[in-house]
Amino acid sequence: MTQRQNVYERPVEILQRLIQFNTTNPPGNEAACIEYIRGMLSEAGIQSALLAKDPNRPNLIARLQGEGKAPPLLLYGHVDVVTTENQSWQNPPFEGRLVDGYVWGRGALDMKSGVAMMIAAFLRANAEGLRPPGDVVLAIVSDEEAGGEFGAKFLVEEHPNLFKGIKYALGEFGGFTLQIGRKRFYPIMISEKQICWMKATVRGAGGHGSMPVKGGAMARLSQLLKALDENDLPVHITPPARRMVEAIAPRLGGVQGFILGQLTNASLNGAIIKTLGERGRVFYPLFIIRSARPCCRAAQRSM
Ligand SMILES: [Zn+2]
Repeated sequence: MTQRQNVYERPVEILQRLIQFNTTNPPGNEAACIEYIRGMLSEAGIQSALLAKDPNRPNLIARLQGEGKAPPLLLYGHVDVVTTENQSWQNPPFEGRLVDGYVWGRGALDMKSGVAMMIAAFLRANAEGLRPPGDVVLAIVSDEEAGGEFGAKFLVEEHPNLFKGIKYALGEFGGFTLQIGRKRFYPIMISEKQICWMKATVRGAGGHGSMPVKGGAMARLSQLLKALDENDLPVHITPPARRMVEAIAPRLGGVQGFILGQLTNASLNGAIIKTLGERGRVFYPLFIIRSARPCCRAAQRSM
C-alpha cells in the first residue's frame, strides 16, 4: 500500500475494501458499504445524497458539475452481490484477497470492480478539476440482484428528477462485443427478456410406497416437463427483436446477412436458428416469447 498515492490511484484497494462488506442480497444490508463510498467522496470534498426506502439499503447519488453545454452523463452501479451459500471457494469470498495479481471475492466481477472504477474515475475527475461539457452523475445503488425494489426502481419512481436530462449512461454492461462472422457489433440494450411464470396443478391417484402407482401425479408432471423441454414455444417477433435483426443483417451483408435477416420471418425462424448452429443460441430466446396466460395453456395442453 502506498499512502502517498491518492485513493483514486488505488482502485484495487477500493475493490478489495468493497468486497469485504458482505452485501449478499437477500438481505443486502448495503448501508455500511454505501457509507464507505460516501466517506471517500466526502474526504474529497464531494457532497452526496443518500436516498433509501429502507435505511439498511440506501442509494448514493453524487454530482460533478459540468459546463451545462451537454446532457449529464450517468455512471451507475450496484454494490449488492449474489449468494455464496453452499459454494466452495478457492479463496474466502469476503476478504478481497489479492493473489497473483487477481482480486478474489464475491462481487469482484459483478460488479464491485465496476463500482471501484467508477468511484476512482469520479474522484480523479474531481481532483483534477475536470469541467466536462455536462454534469457527471454517480449513482451507486443497493438491491440489483433481487429485483431492484430498494435500488434502481425506488430511485426512478420516487426521485426521477435526479436523472432529468440524462441521455447517456455507463453501467454494468457498457458494451459487450457480439462477433458474427467477421463483423463486430456492439449491441445497445433497449429491453430485457421477460419471465414466463407457469403454474400447473397435476393430479393423480394417491397410494403407498408398498404398492406401486402407475401414472401418478409425479409421473404426469415428468411428462409435462419433458414436453416443455422437447417443444419450442411458438415464435413471436417482438418489435425490439425485429429491430435488432434489421440493424445487424444489412451490415453483415452477403449470404450470412441474408440468412440472419430471415429470422424475422416467423415461418423460417426455427430453421434459421438451427442453421446458425452455436451462434443460434444467442438469437433463439429472442423469439420464443408468449404472454403468461397462453403459455400456461400450452403447458396444460401438453399434459
Ligand atoms: Zn450486476
